[in-house]
Amino acid sequence: MLDVSNFKVAEGVDLDLSTHDPNSKLGFDGNKKAGQAALPAYRKRLAELQTKLWAKKKQSLLVVIQAIDTGGKDGTIRHVFTGVNPQGVRVSGFGRPSEEELSHDYLWRIHQETPADGYIKIFNRSHYEDVLVVRVQGLAPESVWSRRYRHIREFERMLTDEGTTVVKLFLNISKDEQRDRLQARLDEPNKNWKFNSGDLKDRALWDDYQEAFRVALQETSTDYAPWYVVPANRKWYRNLVVSNILIQTLERMDPQFPAPEEGLEDIVIE
Ligand code: AMP
Ligand code: MG
Repeated sequence: MLDVSNFKVAEGVDLDLSTHDPNSKLGFDGNKKAGQAALPAYRKRLAELQTKLWAKKKQSLLVVIQAIDTGGKDGTIRHVFTGVNPQGVRVSGFGRPSEEELSHDYLWRIHQETPADGYIKIFNRSHYEDVLVVRVQGLAPESVWSRRYRHIREFERMLTDEGTTVVKLFLNISKDEQRDRLQARLDEPNKNWKFNSGDLKDRALWDDYQEAFRVALQETSTDYAPWYVVPANRKWYRNLVVSNILIQTLERMDPQFPAPEEGLEDIVIE
């Protein structure tokens, strides 16, 4: 297992993202090939834990994934969750809010998607957009978004109290890596569909986004709903780190198979 505590944002810390190297492969003594070869064993462990969570249906896990454009949210979900029973895993993506969503509070659409007992729910973007894109693009005034860190801490506290474990992943890539990934979307025909010229406008605001992420993580990483800064320039290492975070989170939840009916040993199937 990797020691993922290095990537956890401690509650109340003054966060300095420059101390988090997007290129890191800390704790893994091997190359890409070895890293890719290590993933299947973690997938198997994740699947075992998920089976118990599903069987017992007493708790749930919410995995929030945030990143800058091209940060690897989709790829992470695909690689890490290959092999878990699709019946017990759901993904919710959050794009630009609809008129109806905007006419409610910003957590309204989020709360409808939180997981039921037994499920793992993955948020591909989340309520954090309401303190990221909204802050950077000035979609709401500071007097509005600045209160949201507190709302979010309290919302996640409530979810935790009611049986949903919350874990949050910031996929941390460098600005150079983003350029390479955007360039690949232009150059490779099977990636053209992912290219969105709006992403270039966001890239121009790179520093503002980094600062918005820094503040969001610092203000909302708590002991009960921690943020992890995942080094994400190397996709294979990112996948290992995310798998390890999820496994270790589920191990702490310690799901158990429900007790079997009494007297199973006496039953004879005709
Ligand atoms: P994608 O993930 O590529 O489908 O893009 C979704 C887009 O929706 C991104 O540009 C997000 O920044 C944007 N988005 C998500 N949530 C919000 C929000 N609450 N307010 C404004 N834009 C949002
Ligand atoms: Mg965008």
